Amino acid sequence: MENRERLYRTDALILRRSDFGEADRLLTVMTPEYGKLRLLAKGVRKTTSRKAGHVELFMLTNMLVARGRTFDIVSQAEIVEAYRPLREDLDKTSHAYYLAELVDRFVEEHDPNVPLFELLALSLARLGHADDPFLVLRFFELHLLSLTGYQPQLHFCVVCQEALEPVDNNYFHLPDGGALCPTHGQTRPTAQILPLVVLKVLRYLQTEPWENVAGLQLNPATRRHVESLLLEYITFVLERRLKSVDFLHKLRRLG
Ligand SMILES: [Zn+2]
Repeated sequence: MENRERLYRTDALILRRSDFGEADRLLTVMTPEYGKLRLLAKGVRKTTSRKAGHVELFMLTNMLVARGRTFDIVSQAEIVEAYRPLREDLDKTSHAYYLAELVDRFVEEHDPNVPLFELLALSLARLGHADDPFLVLRFFELHLLSLTGYQPQLHFCVVCQEALEPVDNNYFHLPDGGALCPTHGQTRPTAQILPLVVLKVLRYLQTEPWENVAGLQLNPATRRHVESLLLEYITFVLERRLKSVDFLHKLRRLG
């Protein structure tokens, strides 16, 4: 494509970075307009580099990028938001890693997703300030799923489409992507019971604005249940995605 601009400017959240060559780094970043990109930051491992402090993990950076043959190249970089607390506390750092990894794994390159970019930026800021990361992480997980096309169905039985009754013996079934009424849950040997309190918390996280979610008080058993169900669901979706990506690559090779 010869008529593309040689340079472009974008905000970018640094998701991942790895050493490349003698003094360079390869960055995986999330941008609003261009989606996920892999960019080469040249010379940033030299102590004299002016860009170095501006392309650390989890930073929001404004970049001028030059199109390159294999990788586009970071030509200028300036911090917009450093999210400093994320680098000063090991727990916060590990949670930021988790958010960045989820975005990296759910998003394909060059697939713009402005709401997801904004969700990640907001969630990194919230993690920095939160004493308890639990709600920040669960809110992020459910909204990530919605914004990437994997929103779990929590209002209707995925089989009969009837509204779920407020009872303690509804079910959740990973391969069906959501909740089932008691009747249809029993037809799925691998479905798990979905207690009413867990269903309500998941719905609240999925539909209420963050300002309301931030005030939720949950007992330890409910927290554990919500966390493990979401983790199981995300793991299930990612494994299926990875398989389908593998499959597509195989098809392409055969074709
Ligand atoms: Zn049903």
